[in-house]
Amino acid sequence: MRLTTIGTGTAAPHPNRVQAGNLVEAGDLRLLVDCGSGVLWRMAQLGLDWSGITHVVLTHFHADHTVDLVAFLTAWRYGQLPPRAEPVTVVGPLGTQAFVERMAAAFAPGLASFVPGFQVIERAPHDPLTLPGDVTLECCDVPHTPESVAWSIRSDGLRITCSGDLGPSDEFAAWAAGSDLLLLECSLPASFDVPIHLTPEQCASIAARANPGALWLNHFYPPVEPLDIEGIIRTQWHGPVTRATDGASVTLRRGNGPPSPG
Ligand SMILES: [Zn+2]
Ligand SMILES: [Zn+2]
Repeated sequence: MRLTTIGTGTAAPHPNRVQAGNLVEAGDLRLLVDCGSGVLWRMAQLGLDWSGITHVVLTHFHADHTVDLVAFLTAWRYGQLPPRAEPVTVVGPLGTQAFVERMAAAFAPGLASFVPGFQVIERAPHDPLTLPGDVTLECCDVPHTPESVAWSIRSDGLRITCSGDLGPSDEFAAWAAGSDLLLLECSLPASFDVPIHLTPEQCASIAARANPGALWLNHFYPPVEPLDIEGIIRTQWHGPVTRATDGASVTLRRGNGPPSPG
């Protein structure tokens, strides 16, 4: 399985970070987890196959995680010749179908038919969805918006967990335990602490409880970036920490094994 962090930014414009979007490649599937503004353009810039996304997986409906869904559908229909003929599936929390219908009402009544075989699958927390190639998706409620979930993608005995946006959550930390890679939001410094995002200290606490094989951090608002985030994580957990950048990627292989608990 391979993770590429395409967009590691937030609602705050940034010269080097577009909004939220991550590519998970598992078997023949190419799953785009969230698609905020700039994700489609960044994929093109990075030379990534934006046309070959098989699933768009949404964590929640905030604009910095969703607005490029319209851009992708439009590009698949009008941005390439011939137009895309392969189906695409949007997977999201309960309410995703209605969300996509609202997007279509705003932008183009035929939005859902821009790609043949377009479908939406909604999933309740802890109700796994098995995709072709024995890739499994499962979500967990997280404290952010009412619909917000984190997603785990399992394939070939490996597990990548993408937190989306969330505040501190013991339930999430317990559910994420055993992940080979945990991609966790790290939005704000402690001086800006809010209940629906994480500070580096709170990321450290989740890492200590979930003890993933590797921790990747993303979704940085500008005030958190000057901090020694890695140092703060190491006060509570000693596994490998990566501050994700747009275009960074990692390939997971079975048998690498998690690092020793910190
Ligand atoms: Zn966000
Ligand atoms: Zn959000």
